[in-house]
Amino acid sequence: MPSPTMSSLPNSALPDYEIYAIRYAKQALRSDGHMFLGGDHAKMIHGLDFFTYALKGGGRNWIVDTGMTARQSERMGRKYDFICRPSEALAKIGITAATEPDVILTHAHFDHVGTLEDYPKARFHIQDEEMLHVTGRDMTHAPFRAAYHAEDIKQLVDLVFADRMVFHKGDVTLAPGIEFILIGGHARGQAVLRVHTARGWVILASDAVHVFEETDHERPFAIFYDLPGMLEGYRRLNKLAGSRDLLIPGHDYRVTSAYPAAAPGFEGQILRLDKPPRW
Ligand SMILES: [Zn+2]
Repeated sequence: MPSPTMSSLPNSALPDYEIYAIRYAKQALRSDGHMFLGGDHAKMIHGLDFFTYALKGGGRNWIVDTGMTARQSERMGRKYDFICRPSEALAKIGITAATEPDVILTHAHFDHVGTLEDYPKARFHIQDEEMLHVTGRDMTHAPFRAAYHAEDIKQLVDLVFADRMVFHKGDVTLAPGIEFILIGGHARGQAVLRVHTARGWVILASDAVHVFEETDHERPFAIFYDLPGMLEGYRRLNKLAGSRDLLIPGHDYRVTSAYPAAAPGFEGQILRLDKPPRW
């Protein structure tokens, strides 16, 4: 659970994690109405960037979400520009997806669970609420299943039966310095990660916050399970992060331009989020 003091400051008793963001796809433009509830469908604004993450620290690695491929986006009738397959980008920073032991799933939307098969040895961590959401009554409502795909969900069920799914209820500590926090709102089991780094606790907001406009102006994203829950989530995450520099929205193009490349040549593709941003 989140540390009792809720301080965003570094704590010398905890491991400092390196956080890598893999930008595996992008969308040039999106309409304001497709981005925000009540937005203008005739007005085009900057589109979404798509990320998965890797955490290195405490003697082990953690993967956060598995992204998607063109197969998932085409199945959903969406067109994005693909930059890489997440597991191939991980190989460039010394992480072998085929042998990684732990993958955290922030929720099960199609662009977060699309390459599960690249992690054949992994245990997958997910919130109870998300599996209840995607395997039960909620999915009989067409609007709630719009961003899920049955093929992905069947794979998640197979993981349960293979004893490779680890369920979590609410706010939990996965390892010293890694907290898995249930926010809900956008998806019923939407979770975020609070990760300890040398520069303080970084919040990987995933889709609890897609872009900064949501937390800056309480502008609701267009896709959600529970609107008040999503808005309350924005407030909670602003408080938890304490500063814009420690909050990482899950799809914001400004993250790509603000954070440094993990090594020369990785600009715009593999970023270090444990390093300070330059806005
Ligand atoms: Zn989502």
